[in-house]
Amino acid sequence: MNPVQHPEPPEGGVSTAVPDPLHAIQERVHACIQCGTCTGSCPNAFAMDYTPRAMWRLVLMGEKETLFNSRTFLLCSACYYCTLRCPRGLPLTETMEELKQIAARENHPVHKKSVLFYRNFLESVRRHGRVREMEFMTLYFLSLKNPFTPLQFTPLGLRLMGKGKVGIQVPSKGQRRLEALFRKAEELEEQE
Ligand code: SF4
Ligand code: SF4
Repeated sequence: MNPVQHPEPPEGGVSTAVPDPLHAIQERVHACIQCGTCTGSCPNAFAMDYTPRAMWRLVLMGEKETLFNSRTFLLCSACYYCTLRCPRGLPLTETMEELKQIAARENHPVHKKSVLFYRNFLESVRRHGRVREMEFMTLYFLSLKNPFTPLQFTPLGLRLMGKGKVGIQVPSKGQRRLEALFRKAEELEEQE
């Protein structure tokens, strides 16, 4: 395993290298003692390719490629169990969230679908103040640019429509009543 190298500033000058966002994550969880309490507490660990404990180990070892090819942090549902129980008091849930944001920013191919899913979900909430399921899925399928993907979901969609759980919805701009809130969140994110 190759620990991430921190960039050295050039002699007599200031480094212009872009800092690796993983360094901040490593510093935040460096006190991990690999006790496994996070894994034992996580309700989603059974579905993860690396358990939370193993994922924190990958972070500490700077195994960036393996880390961002993993879906572990994507499956975190922010229940905060691990954070509450970690004997070192590490901010694990927030750090899981940060890994999702780095994966989205750096456009890692493994996470592309999930990122589009999140974005279109939020776009529907931004337009209407709540998610409109059919509109959201329409926007999501369009963003995938793959005409075959919707076909996989057709039987499920028809079953849900048959039970009255979803209905036909033409995408619309909505009233955007949450616009100010979304803008503020974007502003805060830019300041980080
Ligand atoms: S519970 Fe905390 S100390 Fe224990 S393995 Fe998880 S992150 Fe590390
Ligand atoms: S916050 Fe995420 S990683 Fe932690 S226990 Fe809950 S689902 Fe698992």
